[in-house]
Amino acid sequence: MKRRELLRGAGLAAVATGLAACGARPEGAADGGPTASTERLQWKMVTSWPTNFPGLGTGAAKLAAMITAASGGRLTVKVYGAGELVPAFEVFDAVGRGTAEMGHSASYYWKGKAAAAPFFCAVPFGLNAQEMNGWLYEGGGLEIWRELYAHFGLVPFPAGNTGVQMAGWFRKPVESLADLQGLKMRIPGLGGEVMARVGATPVNLPGAEIFSSLQTGAIDAAEWVGPYNDLAFGLHRAAKYCYYPGWQEPGPTLECMVNKAAFDALPQDLRDIVDACCRAVNDAMLAEYTARNQQALDRLVREHDVELRQLPDDVLLALRRASDKVLEETAAADPMARRALDSMRAFQAQAKAWHAVSEEAYYATRG
Ligand code: CA
Repeated sequence: MKRRELLRGAGLAAVATGLAACGARPEGAADGGPTASTERLQWKMVTSWPTNFPGLGTGAAKLAAMITAASGGRLTVKVYGAGELVPAFEVFDAVGRGTAEMGHSASYYWKGKAAAAPFFCAVPFGLNAQEMNGWLYEGGGLEIWRELYAHFGLVPFPAGNTGVQMAGWFRKPVESLADLQGLKMRIPGLGGEVMARVGATPVNLPGAEIFSSLQTGAIDAAEWVGPYNDLAFGLHRAAKYCYYPGWQEPGPTLECMVNKAAFDALPQDLRDIVDACCRAVNDAMLAEYTARNQQALDRLVREHDVELRQLPDDVLLALRRASDKVLEETAAADPMARRALDSMRAFQAQAKAWHAVSEEAYYATRG
């Protein structure tokens, strides 16, 4: 039940403070102006992460705190970890029906509801974090995402990115494609479908269930995120072999989804604040992973004797070929997926050409 209360005459100074903190002003409003409101709203944010889980959960908490502060308390957001209000994989439905006004999750969890959804999180062998931001913000991706989610009563915002992930944890080494046959692996999204094409059995589990499933042998392998998050879950205590690179998630965008009716009812300045804070967290989360991953990987290898290995070339090639087929078949079966794939592919071709003479060329010279 949404709780609203009106506090008369207390809002305008808070609006100015909030917008100054966010670096934005409402359109057409000089001093609070006609778009400002003194109504005080309390929103719930449900998430797919354990409360305050490093990077993901803390990112959601940061977003909620930022919106609350930037709005001067006019829009207070309270965060609920996975399972506190709704289970991890019910965030999409809960926000769509208004059980919560806001959610923090990953769009590839919803591929069973909308075939195009994974494109806005991660596509195997697709865009990295920098390219995802380019495509979503400046390359038409966000428009397609907004159109897709509108059918579900939702407004999506990019709200975090982990950067390139790892291929995952395996209880036995992967020497060749034969080692993937019959392998039961936790891997969500289109990456899971690709693994199925090369003979594995993908399963989807919320993060909090990965360790016990891997430790008991209910699954043989699991991908989660990367060193920073995998160390926090202790996945190295359940499987010895850690493989790279994360072909399945080269730069996954996390999402903030807002109930569309609730968002549309906001005054313009609060909508701008939500947008600006999502952008800020989208950036802050990538900075956090960039700063923490190698520190965690050093600990995994030096203190916990993890076997760090690269997937064999022939395995990566088979996965890439299978990915092309999965993406093409997904697009052939669904018009929105077709639009998302075509838009993303056009952007990826451009990004690849540019990055060949910029990012990649620079990495090669850095030594
Ligand atoms: Ca992952």
